[in-house]
Amino acid sequence: MDDPFITCPYDHSHRVPRSRIQAHIVRCQEKHPPLTACPYNATHRFTQADMKIHVTQCPSREEMFPEHKPPKVVAHLIAPRPILQREYLPEMDPNHETWDD
Ligand SMILES: [Zn+2]
Ligand SMILES: [Zn+2]
Repeated sequence: MDDPFITCPYDHSHRVPRSRIQAHIVRCQEKHPPLTACPYNATHRFTQADMKIHVTQCPSREEMFPEHKPPKVVAHLIAPRPILQREYLPEMDPNHETWDD
């Protein structure tokens, strides 16, 4: 369905469906000088020199580290313990009524 063609990083005359780019890169890299894989997206391949520039402006970087979400917020979403504890607390204190007997 949504399978846009991607330009091979080794040879810009290679146009490959996105679903097959990983397999294509593996085959193509055997015929070309080694490229470094982007730490944010394995389909981004550049020479060492170009990679230093690419990592500062990689489009996948913001997907992994959105600027407006500090790590603190992420940690809270993973472990929402205060909310869970409150849900399991009984509405009434079961010991309360014993004092009226
Ligand atoms: Zn290629
Ligand atoms: Zn990248």
